[in-house]
Amino acid sequence: MSYDSNNIFAKILRGEIPCKKVYEDDHVLSFHDIAPQAPAHILVLPKGPYRDMNDFAAKASPDEIAALFRAIGRIAKEQGLDETGYRVISNCGANGGQEVPHLHLHILGGRRLGRMVQAA
Ligand code: AMP
Repeated sequence: MSYDSNNIFAKILRGEIPCKKVYEDDHVLSFHDIAPQAPAHILVLPKGPYRDMNDFAAKASPDEIAALFRAIGRIAKEQGLDETGYRVISNCGANGGQEVPHLHLHILGGRRLGRMVQAA
């Protein structure tokens, strides 16, 4: 499956749609989720055109991979989540429930998040 450059996060990365930016560097953009599911709900994206975790794990450079994970740690600290705890999720494909086909990781925190997976 190829990358769809019309997805909403591609438009945000190109500056065509606004976002509430949290962090940016050469490889990463992070912004608040538009429909937060916890007091803190922040999305972290690689800037490169990676569809999902499968695509990123196979094709991203070591610098891109390092930047993504360093950014998550930095954002968690800057948002005051490192002490209280938080959850990082990346939905992949149909069973994962991925809606936007540009890799993103959700940082969720600010309250006790409960069970990791809801009963089906
Ligand atoms: P996923 O189901 O993992 O693909 O998550 C997609 C997430 O993107 C959802 O939590 C949406 O609320 C969020 N989202 C969709 N459009 C926007 C937007 N324009 N700005 C910020 N977050 C968005």
